[in-house]
Amino acid sequence: MSRRPFASSADLAEKTATLEELAPGVYAYTAQGDPNVGCIVGTDAVLAIEARATPVMAQRWIDVIRSVTDLPFGDLVLTHYHAVRVLGAAAFGARRIVAHRNTAAWIEERGLQDWASEAGRMPRLFEGADTIPGLTRPTDTFDDLMALDLGDRVVELRYLGRGHTAGDIVVWLPDERICFGGDLVEAEAAPYMGDGHIGDWRGATLEAVAALGARQLVGGRGPVVRDEAVAQAIDDTRAFLLAVFDGTRAVRDGGGTPAEAYRTTRAALEPRYGSFPIFEHTMPFNVQRAWDELDGIDHPRIWTVERDREVWDALTG
Ligand SMILES: [Zn+2]
Repeated sequence: MSRRPFASSADLAEKTATLEELAPGVYAYTAQGDPNVGCIVGTDAVLAIEARATPVMAQRWIDVIRSVTDLPFGDLVLTHYHAVRVLGAAAFGARRIVAHRNTAAWIEERGLQDWASEAGRMPRLFEGADTIPGLTRPTDTFDDLMALDLGDRVVELRYLGRGHTAGDIVVWLPDERICFGGDLVEAEAAPYMGDGHIGDWRGATLEAVAALGARQLVGGRGPVVRDEAVAQAIDDTRAFLLAVFDGTRAVRDGGGTPAEAYRTTRAALEPRYGSFPIFEHTMPFNVQRAWDELDGIDHPRIWTVERDREVWDALTG
């Protein structure tokens, strides 16, 4: 009997990527629901945001950057630890690799397992996987705020609380009011909650993102959003987290199982979010993490290839 593939492992269609200049020298490169990246051109170096999953995939993005600047890479900023955003780092030859302190800790703790897990779940994003030289480790970390002087502007890296992982940061341009939000906010894409601190995320952390008052926001996936659409993306993300968390709680309190929680929350979210990228892919993992958090497991359990399979089969079977 053949096993049902993970939703994203059967998704092999190439996506079209779009380069947008959000302000002079500030670029977002979005890809129809694949992980977004960005860069900010300074006076003598480029700040890169996210590294993609492999050096081969990163090089394709670097080739696009080379159409706007020849400057070398100064800082490579990683918004969190996930393999699809960090393992291409070697291609940049950046002077520093900057991330939150908790991201560095999670890479040490679970980076290898996450690499195997994500490569199995989303093989299309791992083209040239044999070019990955090993785990990407930050060279510089911070706790709450780090200001990077690019010569003609200061860019702030801010930690706003636990959310999609324990170490998400946003890249904030205060003058232009542009926010690169990593996976804390998704615009027209489904949030991934498998490593989340859901209670914090849907509460104080998203409040803090909203309080920035961004005029343009680049979420982890999906298009760049502007003005009222920024609030909409934050609201959509919050409502999604709430529906999974409260829906799972209701089933759990009623003596149900994670599989029942998956079925009811999936059905509740499907009308609004069903067409969003990675919706089907994330739901079993989202519900399992909600269940764990409700069980009092504060430190998210590590996803391995085996546990991915086990949870997928148990919840979607
Ligand atoms: Zn992520």
